[in-house]
Amino acid sequence: MILVFLGAPGCGKGTIAKIFEEKLNFCHISTGDLIRNAISSNKELGEMLKQIISNGNLVSDEIVLKLLNEKLKDCSSNLILDGFPRNLLQAQKLDEMIKIDKVVYIDTPYDIIKERLVGRRTCENCGKVYNLDIYNSNTCSCGGKLVQREDDTPHIIEKRFKVYEKETMPLVQYYQNQGKLLKVESNSSSNDTFKNILNMLEVK
Ligand SMILES: [Zn+2]
Repeated sequence: MILVFLGAPGCGKGTIAKIFEEKLNFCHISTGDLIRNAISSNKELGEMLKQIISNGNLVSDEIVLKLLNEKLKDCSSNLILDGFPRNLLQAQKLDEMIKIDKVVYIDTPYDIIKERLVGRRTCENCGKVYNLDIYNSNTCSCGGKLVQREDDTPHIIEKRFKVYEKETMPLVQYYQNQGKLLKVESNSSSNDTFKNILNMLEVK
């Protein structure tokens, strides 16, 4: 089963995808991880990507598709695309590459997202995400240092919401037209949302 997780930046889709990965062995492909890997492994491309992201802009379709195509070779059966596609053009290109079964649209109010994002810290080493409200340390379980991502500051968050509305929201309609859209409201815990999604997918 190939799933796409759609939702505003910080809606919790990454955390929920990780639960699918841990409990059901889904392969979880996040654009964030793809980009972070590219940043740490490729100096020239890395510098360019860093600059784009710290300004609150999106990495170009061409680069993301290339990184994604590489990664797809490692995963085939049960797969979640998290944070991709981000716009109509990417969605159309993706439809040429693979057959998507369902698109899970995670709908979370912006207020809740903003609170979460400001307290969010990411491990420099493994990319694991923590929330300062419930995790009181600046060291990851892997020993890595927890840092605030440059794009998690309030000003950049506003900008990311605007980019999301303009670029990504049209995908809700796009996948609705294809009969693939499942909408789940997420203002409770990631585990509850995970269970709701399982019910909707009728996965046992
Ligand atoms: Zn770590």
